[in-house]
Amino acid sequence: MKVLIVEDETKTGDYLRQGLTEAGFTVDLARSGADGLYLAQSGDYALIILDVMLPGLDGWQVLESLRRGGSEVPVLFLTARDQVADRVRGLELGADDYLVKPFAFAELLARARTLLRRGRNGIDATVLHAADLELDLLRRRVTRSGRRIELTAKEFALLELLLQRQGEVLPRSLIASQVWDMNFDSDTNVIEVAIRRLRGKVDDGFEPKLIRTVRGMGYVLELPE
Ligand code: CA
Repeated sequence: MKVLIVEDETKTGDYLRQGLTEAGFTVDLARSGADGLYLAQSGDYALIILDVMLPGLDGWQVLESLRRGGSEVPVLFLTARDQVADRVRGLELGADDYLVKPFAFAELLARARTLLRRGRNGIDATVLHAADLELDLLRRRVTRSGRRIELTAKEFALLELLLQRQGEVLPRSLIASQVWDMNFDSDTNVIEVAIRRLRGKVDDGFEPKLIRTVRGMGYVLELPE
């Protein structure tokens, strides 16, 4: 899941980025309101953590532009001012929650998870399913028939992508860019190897088989007809 942090204070920004990365999120960090707004409008984020006091465009203006543009992405406001008026203003502008600085990282993580779990339509968007396979994005857990499956970080990301695009044949180039953050090089068999390992863990010993190779095209996760 992708999270955007908009924070101009170097230390706070780096600290948040590290903490959230370690918690399993894919994190982008913007150091100004203008950069933050640009990224927020162009990227597909599950959550934005937005500082109020920013040089140039402040957090309120960023939030206002986002909401005016129709974005419903959950926003967690970070405010240094413990003023009721500021909190009310943030919530009125469409922030989903706020935290007063300084805060404990554990609290930020808990609030972030709550917002993510609430999802955009009140549906739990953090647990992905196919048959008896379950992938919990927040707890970073995969089970099949209730049995825990241990995956590497790349295998987890690969399975997450396959589950999110269930029923769609995903070309190797797309998998390479989304999971490995690289351009597809036809000489490498890294994806093939990862798929084979993943299939071994997810499908071996279980029915039905969910991950399939579509020759010459790519891979798909779907329930057999
Ligand atoms: Ca600031």
